[in-house]
Amino acid sequence: MSRVIGIDLGTTNSCVSVVENDTPVIVPSKTGASTTPSIVAFTKNGERLIGEAAARQAVTNSERTITSVKRHMGSDWSVRIDGKEYKPQTISAMILMQLKKDAEEFLGEEVTEAVITVPAYFNDIQRQATKDAGRIAGLNVKRIINEPTSAALSYGLNHGEAQKVMVYDLGGGTFDVSIIEIGEGIIEVLATSGNNHLGGDDFDERLVQWIVRKFKDMNRVDLSKDFAAMQRIREAAERAKKELSTSENTHILQPYITQAKGEPLHLDMVITRQEFESMISDLIAETEDPVRNALSDAHITPGQLGRVLLVGGSTRIPAVQQKVRDLTGKEPSRNINPDECVAKGAAILGSTLQGRGLVAAGTGQDLLLLDVTPLSLSIETVGGVATRIVERNTTLPARYSQIFSTAAPYQRNVEIHVLQGERPMARDNKTIGKFRLKGIKPAPAGVPQIEVTFDIDANGILKVSARDLDTGREQSITITADDRMSDTEIRQAMQDAQNYASQDQTRKDAIELLGETNKLLVRTERCLKNAGKQLDRVTKKQVKNDSGRLQKLVAKCRLDRVEESQLAEIRAAKEQLEQSADQILRMYDGQL
Ligand code: AMP
Repeated sequence: MSRVIGIDLGTTNSCVSVVENDTPVIVPSKTGASTTPSIVAFTKNGERLIGEAAARQAVTNSERTITSVKRHMGSDWSVRIDGKEYKPQTISAMILMQLKKDAEEFLGEEVTEAVITVPAYFNDIQRQATKDAGRIAGLNVKRIINEPTSAALSYGLNHGEAQKVMVYDLGGGTFDVSIIEIGEGIIEVLATSGNNHLGGDDFDERLVQWIVRKFKDMNRVDLSKDFAAMQRIREAAERAKKELSTSENTHILQPYITQAKGEPLHLDMVITRQEFESMISDLIAETEDPVRNALSDAHITPGQLGRVLLVGGSTRIPAVQQKVRDLTGKEPSRNINPDECVAKGAAILGSTLQGRGLVAAGTGQDLLLLDVTPLSLSIETVGGVATRIVERNTTLPARYSQIFSTAAPYQRNVEIHVLQGERPMARDNKTIGKFRLKGIKPAPAGVPQIEVTFDIDANGILKVSARDLDTGREQSITITADDRMSDTEIRQAMQDAQNYASQDQTRKDAIELLGETNKLLVRTERCLKNAGKQLDRVTKKQVKNDSGRLQKLVAKCRLDRVEESQLAEIRAAKEQLEQSADQILRMYDGQL
């Protein structure tokens, strides 16, 4: 059985971990780093780059580089590149495939199973999209787990004592806060809250706007329409932001950012931590309400918190840490690595899910993990009201049923409109599915009894069913959320992903083969010249023919659409030339 890897599929960076000798270890990326940038790029010649390689060329190839795809998970966003449309699931799958490959190289064995983490605030569609991305990447996703729960899981193993902890997780694109009870062999999420669209990317954006404004004031040049300059500013802003986490001020320097009246202009400015923190203070303040909500949903006061754990790169900002102190009156724990603990927790869960049930790795102790649903689930009833079926922060897995009836006499159908969110009116919540229950026995309004059941599995993924109790017949029902990929689409994407992987390999082989071939052609040319008249006419003709044929095949070979059959032809022609030119290569190579 393949080992289960734990994947923190982050907005900005992703991280993989696996349990080795009862301890979760981080799988190094291709470049030896502990995280991989969640970036995918398509080069002009059709090559696909992932992680570091994609990040390195983002400035020069920004239109074909995709960042922060996690922000679009579960939405109808898509990107069109070279006439092909990619959904967020497909782009995420490319990142997952890279992580899977890194893990396989690290472990020296095939990896087919994974636990993937998502923000606690992800809704059903976003979770399903993440699961689909895993499937496309060739991974059997054994569990989707909330990021804060995962962090607590990695923390819980190191510190056995029973306590309630707050996990404050501020990453690149999302904010999550969870109150978790860690007890003897039990990790129970008591409450969770957050904001799906708040994180370090927003801080970067504020800084970018500040830089653009300041540059305009200084030089009367508006850089905001200059795509390449903006890309450089974005990178510089993120770097400056990180530096300000440890320094009181930083120098933002980008030479030759643009030209004006034929003269080069440089971006050259200094920003202090205080200036930066004041421009993001309202964004940091947006974490206050979710923290208060989570505490009140868990029915505890900050004083009852044993510990506060910081997760996510943005918690390195001193003003964020200060906000946590102000909100909780506690000094946040520093002994967990905010970049790695989420993946490690997922690896622990992965390893414990394998066969033996939930047993905490490293302790041999039985472990029960109780997660919660982050948002309330309801259906729309008469007057556009959202009638709750499952309250938010209900422990998972959960199954709830409620009986409804018809609103009009002799109504044969009812529409079940499934909603997620806390607002009282249906229109203010998010639609996550709609279906029609048909064939209800004609009866006066209010007489038919329709049982609606919500079933949420341990991944937080919801299934809704409806049954006409009058006839006892259960209708088959499909939830059709527009954003969700159909099975056919997933199968197609899986096929594409496999094709892509083999195309990537073919392209790599082609680059290598063309390199060797070009060297051979150059050597042959030189040897022909060196041999001059000493070479007999027949051999010379043969070598020229073979070399000409090989040159033609190489010229026809386009890296963006190369096929294995073409490479086979080139290989054969290369061998042919090596044979016919063998003698002159041996005799005349190395002569000038
Ligand atoms: P995560 O999603 O947890 O990988 O967090 C990524 C976010 O953390 C990005 O917005 C990074 O720019 C930000 N980040 C990483 N390191 C730091 C740092 N030292 N100071 C401020 N923000 C950081």
